[in-house]
Amino acid sequence: MKYLDEYRDEALARKVLAEIKRTVTQPWVLMEVCGGQTNTIVKYGIDHLLPKEVELVHGPGCPVCVTSLEMIDKAHAIARRPGVIFCSFGDMLRVPGTEVDLLVLKSRGADVRVVYSPMDCLKIARANPEKRVVFFAIGFETTAPGNAMAVWQARQQGITNFSVLVSHVLVPPAIESILASPLNRVQGFLGPGHVCTVVGYEEYEPLAAKYRVPIVVTGFEPLDLLEGVLMTIQQLEAGTFEVRNQYPRVVKREGNPMARELVKKVFEVCDRKWRGVGLIPNSGYRLREELRDFDAERIFEVGEIDTQEPEICISGLVLQGVKKPHDCPAFGTLCTPEHPLGATMVSAEGACAAYYAYGRHLEAGKRLDAAGVS
Ligand code: SF4
Repeated sequence: MKYLDEYRDEALARKVLAEIKRTVTQPWVLMEVCGGQTNTIVKYGIDHLLPKEVELVHGPGCPVCVTSLEMIDKAHAIARRPGVIFCSFGDMLRVPGTEVDLLVLKSRGADVRVVYSPMDCLKIARANPEKRVVFFAIGFETTAPGNAMAVWQARQQGITNFSVLVSHVLVPPAIESILASPLNRVQGFLGPGHVCTVVGYEEYEPLAAKYRVPIVVTGFEPLDLLEGVLMTIQQLEAGTFEVRNQYPRVVKREGNPMARELVKKVFEVCDRKWRGVGLIPNSGYRLREELRDFDAERIFEVGEIDTQEPEICISGLVLQGVKKPHDCPAFGTLCTPEHPLGATMVSAEGACAAYYAYGRHLEAGKRLDAAGVS
């Protein structure tokens, strides 16, 4: 398999589906961890093609969705300050804070800019020495090396008007928090392919053994996901609980050692609050003490901020696989991509946004149109 189309081959997909049907003998609940995987599953209707015994629930792996409301409000407080150029990836601009979003702040005169890499911020900082340039450094282990590189380079180059608002989150503690919850229904995981590209999957092995759950590191194309489901079901049916790798064309057990080394030089592990979920111990990165001169939270003194989530939003339960978007009374009515109440309706990787984009709020005929199926 060398080309993208082959990972979407219908005949091969049917074969894997038939194998899943032959293998499964009892009900199983699996969680795909990544928002990118959720998007593919909903777009191709993979969850509807699986035998009724196999239920897929959607996990917390959408970085925009899990960035806490406190951190969004801190970003807004910094972006409002005179003399600040606030830089972010585009999908954070529409995430609602307690009052507004970054796009509204921009329309009111704040200097909010979309960048495609944190390294772009260093150019902006060099070109605007009289301004203070702040990058909103969010995401999982996947984006940490790029963000670490920007801080490291800023220090090497003596750029003092650049800082980062760090809200990194880590997947293994989130999986552990799901497994340890009394509400947990998940019996096997399709592990996060992109995260494991960076950090590998050694860290997942103790989790699989402790909670007796198979974890299959899985890619993002339809055939990747079907194979990931098959490999997980095979383990569940056989009573084995190991970490296996469906995505070896990208992921190695040890990950990317150079990227891991750089991240270790810049960040250290800390407790982190997840939107809708709450505080998860040891589930985030913050800057190391010796690099705190680049810490926007410290520079702009936005330590304590009170926030309020809309009461109706159940995105915390969606992110933990306890509920699905259509269980939310606001889904597709009060809450739409044009007027999102929660972060899972904003990002393309959010489960609520994926359900909406592929027409799961519509009746069958319109749903096929929304999915582009003729
Ligand atoms: S549909 Fe909107 S309000 Fe409901 S859980 Fe999703 S983001 Fe929250």
